[in-house]
Amino acid sequence: MSDCIFCKIAAGQLPSGKIYEDDEVVAFHDIHPFARVHFMIVPKAHIATLSDCLPEHQALLGKMLLLAPRLAREQGLDTGFKTLINTGRGGGQEVFHIHVHVFGGGDPVRKS
Ligand code: AMP
Ligand code: ZN
Repeated sequence: MSDCIFCKIAAGQLPSGKIYEDDEVVAFHDIHPFARVHFMIVPKAHIATLSDCLPEHQALLGKMLLLAPRLAREQGLDTGFKTLINTGRGGGQEVFHIHVHVFGGGDPVRKS
């Protein structure tokens, strides 16, 4: 999707604080963190929302979730972290390219 900001980040066309990349997934720091550590796990393929996922995306979704504890540990979140997937306008989603927020550390984080 040519006008999608996360597609551009995934393709390396926009700068980001990338912490992980493979052929299917990237992870990078959120530009407006709401915790000491806050990054997002994003598929390279453009999928707008969790509601748009199909059975063929099952392995990709599993991969994204399994990456969360590994990357959280690497980012120093030794005692745990939160995950969040906003879905659709009603779910507070602002960037319509599916992403898993991973955040924690330091001060208490908002419960959304
Ligand atoms: P959501 O409400 O789940 O769609 O969240 C979108 C998130 O993307 C917000 O937390 C933004 O701070 C973050 N964001 C938007 N643009 C960028 C960017 N260029 N680099 C990193 N994070 C971004
Ligand atoms: Zn996209």
